Amino acid sequence: MDYDVIIIGGGPAGLTAGIYASRARLKALLIESYSVACQAVTTDHIENYPGFPDGVNGFELIEKFKKQAEKFGTEFIINEVKGIKENNPGWGILTDDKSYTSRAIIIASGARPKRLDIPGEDKFRGKGVSYCATCDGALFKNKEVVVAGGGDTALEEAIFLTRFAKKVTIIHRRNALRGTKILQERAFSNKKIEFVWDAVISEILGAAKVSGVKVKNVKTGAEKDLSCDGVFIFVGYTPNTAFLKDLLPLDEGGYIIADDNCLTSKPGIFACGDCRKKLLRQVVTAAGDGATTAFACQHYIENLQQSR
Ligand code: NAP
Repeated sequence: MDYDVIIIGGGPAGLTAGIYASRARLKALLIESYSVACQAVTTDHIENYPGFPDGVNGFELIEKFKKQAEKFGTEFIINEVKGIKENNPGWGILTDDKSYTSRAIIIASGARPKRLDIPGEDKFRGKGVSYCATCDGALFKNKEVVVAGGGDTALEEAIFLTRFAKKVTIIHRRNALRGTKILQERAFSNKKIEFVWDAVISEILGAAKVSGVKVKNVKTGAEKDLSCDGVFIFVGYTPNTAFLKDLLPLDEGGYIIADDNCLTSKPGIFACGDCRKKLLRQVVTAAGDGATTAFACQHYIENLQQSR
């Protein structure tokens, strides 16, 4: 057996699992993806991670997580996991060019917000374009923002944004919202929220940062510019779990179903962080998940050794 545990994913959940697993003296390998960056790394300013009253840059925070995991002995490689195979009594992990065996696996492969794939979206990410109101909302105090989407997330986050912004315009591609009625009622009765129906954002405009959006009516094709300081995109999420679909039960959105201790239906396979079906996806909850998972994994391996 190459490792006690292999951790898939180098975000806050995987790195915290690495810290805890290595401190439990498990031989741990963490496989980071070279194609998908963890969401925290691409967040310029994280204001809600405890211990940083002035906020912290996402990249710097994750570097600190990594340094801590390395300090306790977690090994790292950068590769793409292609599949997981049974290798009784443990598991085999196939990457692009090599396979590894381990007694247990911790999946922390994260989720990525769906993108609109429109001009300006990449250019202004972190400069007015955001996929997280909880993280970035406070940066828009007394400013005007637009929200793309008509689901629960868009409505909930738009309502949250009214705590800071002076005006929130929800741009939705249909004339009826997808989100639940109670959230619709709250959004409709909120004086700071306006709606643009049957419309999509076709371009994000600005120079050094966002100054507006181009809005296209999907029925008439007419376009008009709308000035704003921020663009929040909530058009759904995609968990990074495609490589697991034949191995583990996933929910309808592709999220991994695991119990309170982050154990999946397969013995020795745990799931934590944003790829797991759960209520709140934040750096702090990912870190909490990672700790729980590594602890549960430690007990799983101890039980394996005792039953031999
Ligand atoms: P969602 O339910 O999939 O809604 C995505 C929204 O974005 C829809 O309104 C969709 O329009 C729109 N959209 C998708 N692609 C688009 C595109 N390319 N351009 C413009 N608009 C686009 O996603 P979500 O709101 O993130 O919610 C995900 C799941 O979490 C749901 O099951 C939701 O109920 C749940 N959730 C629950 C709560 C809660 O219970 N408090 C809070 C948040 C999320 P259409 O409507 O036309 O498809």
